[in-house]
Amino acid sequence: MPLLRSWVESANSATTDFPLNNLPYGVFSVGLDAPARCGVAIGDMILDVTTLEAEGLIAPDPDTAVFDVAAWNDFMELGPDAWAAFRARLTEMLAEGAPDRAAVEPHLVPIADAEMHMPFGVSEFTDFYAGRHHATNVGTMFRGAENALPPNWLHIPIGYNGRASSVVVSGTAFHRPWGQLKSPDHDAPAFLPSRRFDFELEMGAIVGQPSQGMVSVAEADAMIFGYVMLNDWSARDIQAWEYQPLGPFQSKATATTISPWIVTAAALAPFRTQTPPREKELLPYLREPGLTLYDIGLEVTLAPEGKAGTVIARTNYREMYYSSAQQLAHHTTSGCPMNVGDLLGSGTISGPEKGNRGSLLELSWGGKEPMTLDTGETRSFIEDGDTITFRGGAEGEGYRIGFGQCAGTVLPAVDKPGWA
Ligand code: MN
Repeated sequence: MPLLRSWVESANSATTDFPLNNLPYGVFSVGLDAPARCGVAIGDMILDVTTLEAEGLIAPDPDTAVFDVAAWNDFMELGPDAWAAFRARLTEMLAEGAPDRAAVEPHLVPIADAEMHMPFGVSEFTDFYAGRHHATNVGTMFRGAENALPPNWLHIPIGYNGRASSVVVSGTAFHRPWGQLKSPDHDAPAFLPSRRFDFELEMGAIVGQPSQGMVSVAEADAMIFGYVMLNDWSARDIQAWEYQPLGPFQSKATATTISPWIVTAAALAPFRTQTPPREKELLPYLREPGLTLYDIGLEVTLAPEGKAGTVIARTNYREMYYSSAQQLAHHTTSGCPMNVGDLLGSGTISGPEKGNRGSLLELSWGGKEPMTLDTGETRSFIEDGDTITFRGGAEGEGYRIGFGQCAGTVLPAVDKPGWA
């Protein structure tokens, strides 16, 4: 598919994240006292769909307003037919030569003037461990190369139930966590601010339809509304001490940052790709009916406080061993109901080369090989004031389906005299 041209001139650039082919969904506000509203990114503008709906120019649900709440959950509940019809209506309104232009143009707001908010209410958050390069690297560090992949890994998309309450939108700063750590040099654990705080480069899949009982991979794929970039911040020292036998707990609960724009599965459809070759044949319920993964280039920048950033990793979502549709299908095998607004983290996305690693744990090989930034400073893990930014997008011919950015800054641990 070529670039679809829009009367919003900035949307026709080959480098914008938000051409007419994309139309991602977010929640924004302008100015301190204005309420947050639902919007669609187009070039360097946001189309305010809350006011468009209030004026009757759009009606995704003919019976009731869906954009009167600043979240996309009510719209997701309408289901795939309504999703497709709304996308077609937006495409028509914003296309070059559209007769609607005069009525629609007053509802555009510059992205530069807007503050972005959480695009949807997160019902629950589940995080997976489905990147083979990441699992192999981490397993090699913790258990040695021969036992790097646990025996179940090639059969099950491994995951844990995380916290929805600490999912935040890009741009939200937070404090370094305290936790119980145990250094190999000491017999007893200590309670201290984490010294090995890290990021994890992931994609987040947003469940747009509910389920009762088991769903197939094909059904799961149709339930996924869209994708965001996701940073599963991880305190490696807390994790190393707490994770056996039930997996991560406080080490992953401080914050999870997502990018503010939901890029729809429809926009990503031309970029579907195959999961990597299977080393062990999957059980029938996990086999894919077609292409369920996406070709999305990703990069990570680390910027020390007040300084320029250094790109420290580049990889691609197509490196995942299991797709989000396979993870979602597996999630329902217990009969666990899935809800609109559930968020599934893909697992850290690393690639085969050193420069493709999606966490500092891997990039610095457990702190043994510190990285040198363009500023000359070195990093094994995140220092106070550092900002980690993800950028990503799928590259079409003459256009790009971009995700914007997913950024977060780690502030110093809160002062708790007498707690250490
Ligand atoms: Mn993770």
